[in-house]
Amino acid sequence: MMKKNFDCIVIGYGPIGALLSIFLSKLGLSVAVIDKNLDVYPLPRAIHFDEEVMRIFQMVNLSKQISNISRIGTKGMHFVDEEDNILMERKGSNSIGEFGWQKSWYFHQPQLERLLRSNAEKEKNFVSFLGYETHKINQDSDLVTVTSYSKSLKKELVLKSKYLVGCDGANSNTSDFIGQGVKDYGLKEKFLVLDLIVDNRYQNIKNLPDYTVQHCDKVRPVTRCYINKKRRRWEVKILPSDNEDEFLKSRTIWEFLSKWIDKKSAKIERSQLYTFRSILKKKWFKNRVILAGDSAHLSPPFLGQGMCAGIRDVAALAWRLKGYASNKLSADDLVNYQAERFPHVSAFIKLATEVGKIMSNPGLLKKSEKSQSMRLFDFPKPRLKTGFFYTCSLSGTLFPQFIDGSKKSDDSLGYKFILLVLENNMCSELNMDPKKITKKVAKGSLRNWIIKSKIEAVIIRPDKYIFGSASSKKEVKSLVNYFSHMYRA
Ligand SMILES: Cc1cc2nc3c(=O)[nH]c(=O)nc-3n(C[C@H](O)[C@H](O)[C@H](O)COP(=O)(O)OP(=O)(O)OC[C@H]3O[C@@H](n4cnc5c(N)ncnc54)[C@H](O)[C@@H]3O)c2cc1C
Repeated sequence: MMKKNFDCIVIGYGPIGALLSIFLSKLGLSVAVIDKNLDVYPLPRAIHFDEEVMRIFQMVNLSKQISNISRIGTKGMHFVDEEDNILMERKGSNSIGEFGWQKSWYFHQPQLERLLRSNAEKEKNFVSFLGYETHKINQDSDLVTVTSYSKSLKKELVLKSKYLVGCDGANSNTSDFIGQGVKDYGLKEKFLVLDLIVDNRYQNIKNLPDYTVQHCDKVRPVTRCYINKKRRRWEVKILPSDNEDEFLKSRTIWEFLSKWIDKKSAKIERSQLYTFRSILKKKWFKNRVILAGDSAHLSPPFLGQGMCAGIRDVAALAWRLKGYASNKLSADDLVNYQAERFPHVSAFIKLATEVGKIMSNPGLLKKSEKSQSMRLFDFPKPRLKTGFFYTCSLSGTLFPQFIDGSKKSDDSLGYKFILLVLENNMCSELNMDPKKITKKVAKGSLRNWIIKSKIEAVIIRPDKYIFGSASSKKEVKSLVNYFSHMYRA
């Protein structure tokens, strides 16, 4: 008989639901994912992710597969004015940064989603129910009951689980179930998104820049993205005075694109209007029901960070759900999932909203005496302030990743709690449960980092945030005791 009780049900098999399913299955939880569609959404949306996201893919051994379908962004993102002067720039680079990866990656979303799904389906604890739309959620003190319906099969599906994660996107039913409203940062702009398959044999395609250009323009801002040799994207602001139906016609689109390319050298894969928003849901959980991804937050795509935020949610949530399922964490620790993630996402959404405003009003960035280098900007790296930590100078910051020879240090740490110590004798004196935390004596670059940081030990969380550090034997004991209190047996 088909299994109907799971540790976790995930509604939505987009990138966030698929990745969360992989994390949870690998942690040994039984997972059911439900999606109203039979296949992945066929048209591209996200095209960019960053180094931290590649590091998260690495946590479930996917970075090699994903790097094979992605391009490193070596030349960054240029914001230019009407005369093509650079107003602002986020530099690209081929070199490996402090988290062990190059800082920008470009990809084709349907290809990434297929890859995630094929990996989820290899997991023995995982099952998918496709073509079922969830329309009812109930929960009591022990279980969540999820009711979904398949139109094609005319069949109802009722599943139960200990936890439910709504990864059901921008129009999330799960978020409606939780309620409590939204925080809106005020951006609401319509853009026409054009995805093109280009033919590189033509000179006008060869002439296009091999980086992203954001044309800041009071009248009509436009973004032009280089995804890979075959794919390009244009995002064009739609003005209140535009006739939208007219704008969507192929003739009008080609007239618009003729400034850069012609019809012979490219094919329009899709043209679609989107309303870009800057929204955070105020509440991300209600007892056993939790949000992750676009169901919890929507970012305008000017920084290519919407999906990245959802992927960070996954890394922050998966170990908590595992801890919750094995009674090491309580419902309060879901409170700190939101407490950590909300200000982090908010920092990105605020920046994307600011950038959106500058694109429509380049005068906000005055072409003043300031040198060009002052206009360099990068993504924020907010320190987590309230959450699952021991209070010390390093807690809430991301632990770096090192490369020794051909080995990346995260691969030796794994997606689990690690107590990394300078000296072996420190381990023998500590009474710790190996099911909760793995002790490791630092070697090579990890050891150098500990020495340079003037500490004796550090606890690294599965998502690679530092739980806490200690600079004396006595402090190591307090750190470990505090951890054991927080992550109880
Ligand atoms: C034009 C554009 C450009 C973007 N560019 C970038 C970028 O470069 N980088 C970046 O990081 N992000 C970008 N984003 C954002 C990114 O696409 C989203 O953040 C990401 O797709 C969200 O993933 P998700 O899994 O949360 O939701 P979705 O991808 O929307 O998936 C939700 C899933 O839930 C299913 N579902 C919904 N309701 C139900 C229900 N009731 N029952 C069953 N199933 C249900 C849907 O069928 C769907 O499969 C962009 C977005 C747009 C629109």
